[in-house]
Amino acid sequence: MAAYTFEQDATILGAASPERRVQLAARNLDIISPQTGSLALLEASASQVFPADELAGGSAFYYFGPTQKKQFLKTMMETNWDRRVFFAGEQASFTHGWIQGALDAALRCVGQVIDTAAKPV
Ligand SMILES: Cc1cc2nc3c(=O)[nH]c(=O)nc-3n(C[C@H](O)[C@H](O)[C@H](O)COP(=O)(O)OP(=O)(O)OC[C@H]3O[C@@H](n4cnc5c(N)ncnc54)[C@H](O)[C@@H]3O)c2cc1C
Repeated sequence: MAAYTFEQDATILGAASPERRVQLAARNLDIISPQTGSLALLEASASQVFPADELAGGSAFYYFGPTQKKQFLKTMMETNWDRRVFFAGEQASFTHGWIQGALDAALRCVGQVIDTAAKPV
C-alpha cells in the first residue's frame, strides 16, 4: 500500500481524481525513497475514499486530539455503575482506530468481568 491517509491529507487526496490521487502518492514515495522508482514502475493502481463509500457507512473511528489520550483513555477503560457496566470498543483501547484495539478492549472487558465475579462489590 502506498498511502493510508487521514484528516487534511485524506481530504486533499479524496478530492482528486483516482488517477491524480495515485500519481500524487507515487510521486511522494519517489521523494521519500527515490531508489524504489515508484513512478517509473507504476503499472496499475486502485484507491478507496472511505468517506464517500456508502457500504462503509461513511468513516468513523476514534481519533484522539493532542493530549486527549492522556486525559481520557484511562477513565474510558474503567468499569462504571458499581462495576456493572464494561466499556469495550476500539475507542477504549490504546490501539484505538484499529481492529486490534477492538480485540484488546474486548479482552480487557473479559478480564474485568472475571475480576468482578471473583471479587463482587
Ligand atoms: C473506513 C474505515 C477503514 C478502516 N480500516 C481498517 C483497517 O484497515 N485495519 C484495521 O485494523 N482497522 C480498520 N478500521 C477500524 C476498524 O474497523 C475498527 O477499529 C473496528 O471495526 C472497531 O470495532 P468495534 O467492535 O470497536 O466497533 P464496530 O465494529 O463499529 O462495532 C460496533 C457495533 O455496534 C453496533 N451498534 C451501535 N450502536 C448500537 C446500539 N445502540 N445497539 C446495538 N448495537 C449498536 C454497530 O452497528 C456496530 O455493529 C477502519 C475503520 C473505518 C471506518
